[in-house]
Amino acid sequence: MSPDNPQKPSPIAQARAWIANSRKLLFFVGAGLSKASGIKTFRDEDGLYQDRRVEELAHVDSFFHQREIMLSWYQHRRQQLLNVSPNEGHRALAAAAKTHDVVVATQNVDDLLERAQQNMQVTCPVWHVHGALAQVRCHDCGLAFNDLTLDLGTLPVCEACHGPLRPGVVWFGEALPPEPLQESFAAAQACEVCVLVGTSGVVYPAAMIPEQAAAAGARLIEVNPNTSGLSHLCDISIRGPADEILPQIFEGLN
Ligand SMILES: [Zn+2]
Repeated sequence: MSPDNPQKPSPIAQARAWIANSRKLLFFVGAGLSKASGIKTFRDEDGLYQDRRVEELAHVDSFFHQREIMLSWYQHRRQQLLNVSPNEGHRALAAAAKTHDVVVATQNVDDLLERAQQNMQVTCPVWHVHGALAQVRCHDCGLAFNDLTLDLGTLPVCEACHGPLRPGVVWFGEALPPEPLQESFAAAQACEVCVLVGTSGVVYPAAMIPEQAAAAGARLIEVNPNTSGLSHLCDISIRGPADEILPQIFEGLN
């Protein structure tokens, strides 16, 4: 598998060639993309916050029964976001929108990909299928805006209806917002190449997005240090961290 052998390009060279020869790309993204930025998943920190289990704090019931500690935990996570930056993986994906028609379906609740895009002055749709920490939303009327600095721990209320404000993430016990899923499935149907980045591929219905891309005939390229629940669907699996592999794939395409 030498990159110098034209009969058998390396997996990275093959991935680059498929991407170079296509226009419509879908990036299906999981926690592995943000790992090198130091983003903590909510199972880090021993799975506890002030002696509460985080799975419990991430359940919609906590908004009604222990709102103060729940929102204090979310504010803690929002503040952590302010202290991290996009990594080379985010930058590689952001830059792809300069040359390709890109849609991103991300399971991550951070906004690092959007920040990488802003830094490069490029933009493409980024659908957060599990919501976004940077978003603040009224639980009652749905009014939403982006603000990482508003302290949710102070239990702020909606200017429009005085309903309680909450982070714009999807909690256990809640349905996924329909629009990000619908738009992601539409992109899966239309894309020529789907790149799966740092996702275990075991969380549904999100994992149905690359399954849909495969069913519609797209090439699937996986970038992941480990085998995932979707590896069997992928034409190429490149084993390694996103911040190292993605720049190699996309280098020279822009
Ligand atoms: Zn409201």
